[in-house]
Amino acid sequence: MLNIVLFGPPGAGKGTQSERLIEKYGLIHLSTGDVFRANIKGETELGTLAKSFMDKGQLVPDEVTINMLRSEVLNHPEAKGFIFDGFPRTNAQAEALDLFLKSIDTKISVMLALEVEEVELRERLKKRAEVSGRVDDANPEVIQNRINVYNNETAPVKTFYQNQGKFVAVNGIGSIDEITQRLFEEINKL
Ligand code: ADP
Repeated sequence: MLNIVLFGPPGAGKGTQSERLIEKYGLIHLSTGDVFRANIKGETELGTLAKSFMDKGQLVPDEVTINMLRSEVLNHPEAKGFIFDGFPRTNAQAEALDLFLKSIDTKISVMLALEVEEVELRERLKKRAEVSGRVDDANPEVIQNRINVYNNETAPVKTFYQNQGKFVAVNGIGSIDEITQRLFEEINKL
């Protein structure tokens, strides 16, 4: 199986690039943000809970997120592999993911980290707010919160994969096509 963690701060382009990667490698795209948003739209219990955190730019609690992720993976027994987009976002999530994948006889192949500096991220999120309709894109305070959460809780997850020799940084500045090519090159080296 090819299991990729696509990593990067909010606005790094994970969603856009995931679409390209699933097409090329026949993977299942699992975006925790998308699953939460679908639950909010469907007015499920999970949606109501997730919304209370997401609207403030905070993380949904680990236990809730991990359980949701597990059941999404188990829903695709036929998968050739997965792109994890927006997960793991804390060291606890990374540890839980490792254990879970081991229990179903597979593992993470690589973490591809899209690197984009903060000034550019703010610009992209501002533009996205005009079209995404996302509450968490529209408010500068919420955006700042998400960037802070990324720096404090999520960025350390890099070290987790570095320690396993699975961390690869990819320049996330350039045209969408250029960045896709950089990701393809890294995956083809595996
Ligand atoms: P972005 O990375 O652009 O901020 P996402 O769609 O990945 O957008 O995530 C939106 C929100 O969903 C996050 O700010 C957070 O509240 C919640 N979320 C997504 N993934 C996770 C996760 N792995 N753990 C906890 N909360 C998450």
